[in-house]
Amino acid sequence: MKDSTRAAAYLLPFVAALAVAPLLLPEFYVTLLNYIGLYAIVALGLVMLTGVGGLTSFGQAAFVGLGAYTSAYLTTVHGLSPWLTLPAGLLVTAVVAVSLGLVTLRLSGHFLPLGTIAWGISLYYLFGNLEVLGGHTGISGIPPLQILDREIKSGREFFYLIWAVLLVVVLGTRNLLDSREGRAIRALRGGSLMAEAMGVDTPRAKIVIFTVAALYASVSGWLYAHLQRFVNPTPFSLTQGIEYLFMAVVGGVAHVWGAIVGAGLITILKQWLQDWLPIVLGQSGNFEVIVFGLLMIFVLHRARDGVWPIVTRLFPPPARRRSAPTSVAETESPPRLPLARRPRPESGSLLLEVTRASKRFGGLVANDNVSFTVRAGEVMALIGPNGAGKSTMFNGISGVDPLTSGGVSFRGQRVESLPARDIARLGMSRTFQHVRLLTGMSVIENVAIGAHLRGEKGFLAAACRADRAEEARLFDEAAWQIERCGLAEQMHDAAGSLPLGKQRLVEIARALAADPCLLLLDEPAAGLRYLEKQALADLLRRLRAEGIGILLVEHDMDFVMGLADRVLVMEFGRQLATGLPAEIQRNPAVVEAYLGGVE
Ligand code: ADP
Ligand code: MG
Repeated sequence: MKDSTRAAAYLLPFVAALAVAPLLLPEFYVTLLNYIGLYAIVALGLVMLTGVGGLTSFGQAAFVGLGAYTSAYLTTVHGLSPWLTLPAGLLVTAVVAVSLGLVTLRLSGHFLPLGTIAWGISLYYLFGNLEVLGGHTGISGIPPLQILDREIKSGREFFYLIWAVLLVVVLGTRNLLDSREGRAIRALRGGSLMAEAMGVDTPRAKIVIFTVAALYASVSGWLYAHLQRFVNPTPFSLTQGIEYLFMAVVGGVAHVWGAIVGAGLITILKQWLQDWLPIVLGQSGNFEVIVFGLLMIFVLHRARDGVWPIVTRLFPPPARRRSAPTSVAETESPPRLPLARRPRPESGSLLLEVTRASKRFGGLVANDNVSFTVRAGEVMALIGPNGAGKSTMFNGISGVDPLTSGGVSFRGQRVESLPARDIARLGMSRTFQHVRLLTGMSVIENVAIGAHLRGEKGFLAAACRADRAEEARLFDEAAWQIERCGLAEQMHDAAGSLPLGKQRLVEIARALAADPCLLLLDEPAAGLRYLEKQALADLLRRLRAEGIGILLVEHDMDFVMGLADRVLVMEFGRQLATGLPAEIQRNPAVVEAYLGGVE
C-alpha cells in the first residue's frame, strides 16, 4: 500500500507529539484524546473490514460492549484481575464474531449491512436486559488497571496505555495489509472471483477480517471499561455503531491512518456541536446527529476517500524511491531461496480431459456436449466466433462457474465439482478475457497474488513482520515472471495505469507465478502490437518446451496457427471440429463457419 509507506514519514513526529501531549495539555484535552484513541482502535477495524475488505458493518459497537462487559462482569463478580479478563473478553468476542460471521458474511449486497444492524441491536438489548450485567443501570465499581503495584487511574496515565495500544494495532494492521494474506484481503473488494481462481479462500479471509475487526473493538471496550470504571449499555448501541463507521469513512476508509484522523475529527466535531448547537438553536436536543447525517452525505458525494488523502496532499512526505512491498525483493539481506516448484508431469502425458461438458444459462446452451483433452507440453487452441462458448468453457474447467453437466478430470482427478481455489491448488492457472487486476495495486503485487498458494505465512506472522523472508521469495518469483512477460519496466506501476494489452500480459505473469502445469489463456494477444505478439508466442513456446500444457483462446489466426499443436473449433456452444492446424484450415465446415467468415 502506498498509504503505508507515505505514512511512515509521519510516524516519528507523531509519536513524539504523543509522548509530550499529556504533559502540556489541560486535563480536558487529555480526556478527549483518550476517547479519540479508543474510537480509533474500533475505526481501524472498520478500515480493514469495510475500506479494504468491502464488508460494511454497523454493529462494531456491540463488540466494544462484549469486551467491556466481559471484563466488567468478571472483575466485579468473580474478582479476576483485569489482565486476565482481557484474553477472556477477546475469546468471547472471537467466538461470537466467528458465529455471527459464518451466518452474516454469506449475505450479499445490502443484506450484509442489514444483518450487522440486526445483531448490533440484539447484543445491545442483551446487555440491557441481562440481570447479571446490571440491566440498564449497568455495572459499577470496576477495578482500575494495575501495572506492577501502580494503579492506572488518571487520564494522563491512561493516555499512554491507550495510544500505545492504538499504535501497536495501527502498525500491525499496516503490516498485515502489506503481506500475502493482506493482498488476499485487498482482493476481496471487487476481486473475489480472481482471488479464488488464484487459490485464495475468500470466505475464510472474510471471516478472519471480520473477527480481527471485532477483536480490535473488544480491546477498545476493555480499555474503556477500566478507564470509566463503569459500564452501561448506552455506548454500545447501534447509534454508536453508525458513528464508528462514520469515523472510518470520514478519515478515509481505505487508509490505516485515516482511522485516527476520522476518530479525531468526529469526536471533536461532536463535542463542539453539542456545545454550540443548543445555543444557536435555542433549545436542547441531539441535533448533532442531524448534522452528522448531512455531513455523511456530503462526504460520500464529495470526498469518497475521506480526509486522509487530503492530509497527504497538503503535507506530502519526502519522496521515496519506490513503493514499499517491492523493496522487499530488492533488499539484499533476506535469504534468496527460490520457491519450491511443482514436479512437472511428463511431457505428452494426459493433463486435462473434458468429457461431454455442457453449460446452460437458463434457456441458452453456452456449451453443448464438448469433449477434448490437453496434454503436458502441448498448446491446444480453442477457437470460434464471439459467443461460441469459449470463455464459458474456461470458467467450467477452472471451477469459476461450474458446468451444468459433464466431467472434467485434471491430472487424473475429477474436478468438475471442486471450488476454483482447490483446482488452482492442483496446478491449473488461468487468465481472464476481461482483465481482472486490482488496478490500484502495483503490477508486482498483482502478480504476487498468483503465487498465493506458494506461501504459507498467516495473519499473525504478517502482523509482526515474521513473513519477510517468504515475502522476499514471493516477490522474487513475481519479478521473474514479470520480466519473462516483458514488463520489467512497468513492474512498480499501478496495474490500472497500463494499456490493456500490457494488462493482459500482467494476467499471464500472475498465472505463471502459480507455477502451473496447465495454463488457460483467454485471448492473451488481444491488444498487443506485432512485436509484442511475437514475444508472447516465444514465451508460450518456451513454456511448452518446459512441459506446461496450454489451452489457448485467441482470435488472431496467424498467432494461433503458428503456435498450436492442435485446434478445437466451437460454434454456438457445439464442437465443430478438432484436429491439427493444417487439417482445421482445410476443413470445409470450419472454413464456412468461421475462417471464411473472418476473411
Ligand atoms: P466466447 O468466449 O466464445 O465469445 P462466451 O463463453 O463468453 O463466448 O459466451 C457464450 C454464450 O453464453 C454467449 O451467448 C453469452 O452471452 C452467454 N453467456 C456467457 N456468460 C453468461 C452468463 N453468466 N449468463 C448468461 N449468459 C452467459
Ligand atoms: Mg470469450
